[in-house]
Amino acid sequence: MKIICVGRNYVAHAAELGNEIPDSPMLFMKPHSAILANNKPLYYPDFTNDLNYEAELVLKICKNGRSIQPEFADSYYQQVGFGIDFTARDLQQKCKEKGHPWEIAKAWDNSAALSNDFINVSSLPNPAAIKFEMNLNGKVVQQGDSSLMIYSFNDIICYASRFFKLQVGDYIYTGTPAGVGPVKKGDILIGSIEGRQMLTCAIK
Ligand code: ZN
Repeated sequence: MKIICVGRNYVAHAAELGNEIPDSPMLFMKPHSAILANNKPLYYPDFTNDLNYEAELVLKICKNGRSIQPEFADSYYQQVGFGIDFTARDLQQKCKEKGHPWEIAKAWDNSAALSNDFINVSSLPNPAAIKFEMNLNGKVVQQGDSSLMIYSFNDIICYASRFFKLQVGDYIYTGTPAGVGPVKKGDILIGSIEGRQMLTCAIK
């Protein structure tokens, strides 16, 4: 199992971090050991002083495929879940400045919080415009809408599968909307999709 993530997939989020809009999906990966499941808490890592949350819709891949063509892309996922792409923003900044890979900022143990529940995309009111929300200590901090993604689910599937064979059980974190920010010990993050609570994560 692998986790493919998309960076800078919402215009407003790229802008808030001062990044340019990429001319193709910007991909990175996290290993299996990054998964934080079962609503477990995240223990604040000792290598960062700027731990950030990024709320994301997550696709669960249900079919193997490589070089997938656009007309078949939507048959490779049926369900969407909620994930948090936890990021050590200070380390990421250093990696970016040096032009280094950023796994130490993005792909560390437990950096990919993932909901246990997944929702059938076809059961949603508008599968092309899925609304999701991140709540921090009772306050809404991020509101996403999949129709505002620069690269759609299908675009990501087609592009990623040119490089990486998609396999059943893989996850795709599809990018975060604006409103990312830091967390501290004692904070509680709650993620929801279309008003349905999907994920809780306490920072310890
Ligand atoms: Zn992200």
